[in-house]
Amino acid sequence: MGLRDLFRRHTFEHGIHPPDHKALTAGLSIRRLPFAPYLVIPLSQHAGAPATPLVKKGQDVARGEPIAEANGFVSVPMHAPASGVVDDIRLMPSARGPKSLSIVIRVYEGSPQRVEYESPRNVDDMTPEQIVEAVQATGMVGLGGAAFPTHVKMRPPKEHTVDTVVVNGCECEPYLTCDHRLMLEKPDELIAGIKIALRATGAKRAVIGIEDNKMDAVEVLSARVRSEALIDVQAVPTKYPQGAEKMLIESLLHRRIPPGSLPSSVGVSVFNVGTLVQIGELLPTGRGLIERVVTVTGAGIRQPGNYLVPVGTPIRYLLEHVGANEPVHELILGGPMMGMSVAALDVPVTKAMSGMVVLPPPKQSKQLPVMACIRCAYCVEACPMHLNPSTLGLLATKREYQKMAADFHLNDCFECGCCTYVCPSNIPLVQYFRIAKAINRERAA
Ligand code: SF4
Ligand code: SF4
Repeated sequence: MGLRDLFRRHTFEHGIHPPDHKALTAGLSIRRLPFAPYLVIPLSQHAGAPATPLVKKGQDVARGEPIAEANGFVSVPMHAPASGVVDDIRLMPSARGPKSLSIVIRVYEGSPQRVEYESPRNVDDMTPEQIVEAVQATGMVGLGGAAFPTHVKMRPPKEHTVDTVVVNGCECEPYLTCDHRLMLEKPDELIAGIKIALRATGAKRAVIGIEDNKMDAVEVLSARVRSEALIDVQAVPTKYPQGAEKMLIESLLHRRIPPGSLPSSVGVSVFNVGTLVQIGELLPTGRGLIERVVTVTGAGIRQPGNYLVPVGTPIRYLLEHVGANEPVHELILGGPMMGMSVAALDVPVTKAMSGMVVLPPPKQSKQLPVMACIRCAYCVEACPMHLNPSTLGLLATKREYQKMAADFHLNDCFECGCCTYVCPSNIPLVQYFRIAKAINRERAA
């Protein structure tokens, strides 16, 4: 089979083609970052209930040791990313905005990279239920940015049958390349993770979807799966937001998820490649999730790259280590389309943080004025969810938030930012929609 056979030309409707800026880091191998003197582990780094501390102030902890337990099914435990002593358990700044209860670890000088807590096991002997429990015990959440506990995704609602695992290797956000590097450098761990996901969900096959700007990854993985009857690799056209679950399922399988429904309603479970690489590594060793690969990039960074970073590493330490040009004008956590701009550098790297884009001050002020909507419909043509962002934006300015949800499908918007990107009037549409959803949620509570 030639590379041409790996292309799937079908794609979702609409979307945009922003410049990808990936050349800065795509060719750079993953490098390990040393431990910061202090690590800050928020107890809520995932969707669902925050974890409950298992340790006390002054207690010694070893690298890999569980330090907080899951608080219910939709929750995950935390593990010590380095050996040290619990300095405190207190409210600390977090990237989510409000301060978050966190375990602060003072790392021992010369703390070893060796993981001290593990219990190797034979995954082949485990039942699907045991796999789901073991995945929860790793503390694994979606590493693509959603932070949804992975074990919950592995147990779809009883009324749904999953026949296909979709492996999301699109990495469609500009700048980010951590998943690209993982596909090139850890193909065996990825395949091991996919097999675990197949067994846990009961699916009969897996398809790895990769955007066609990463043909080296397509080649590496298609060679690797040649002997795997249940796993396919497909290249999909490069287009943002190809990596959104709904878009990728439509491109690969021609299945459309009804509004408000889960991928499992159309027989699919979707996992990000970074998540499955970690599952493939952690489950056989019985380790917890204590580090992740983070793309640190942008014109404000002297040594852009993909770094293996202990969870809890303060961003200030990370930026000092890779040489951020002072002053930092803008720091975006995640990619520029769906990530969030943060003002404080004293927040820690969390499990779901896939990247950091650092921009220097612009040579000329780029603060463009917001102007009136000119009804050009560019936003309508860009929206992959077939919404009308122009009308939604107008309603937002009139604070008609409930009408936006009731009559104009506000809740189908997954905040991809395509509409804002194309708007010639510089209307911050996606920001309006975030505010509208938050206010509706508050009113409903
Ligand atoms: S942010 Fe929402 S409304 Fe705007 S293009 Fe994306 S899905 Fe559509
Ligand atoms: S892209 Fe901007 S100016 Fe054009 S219709 Fe949409 S909101 Fe109006």
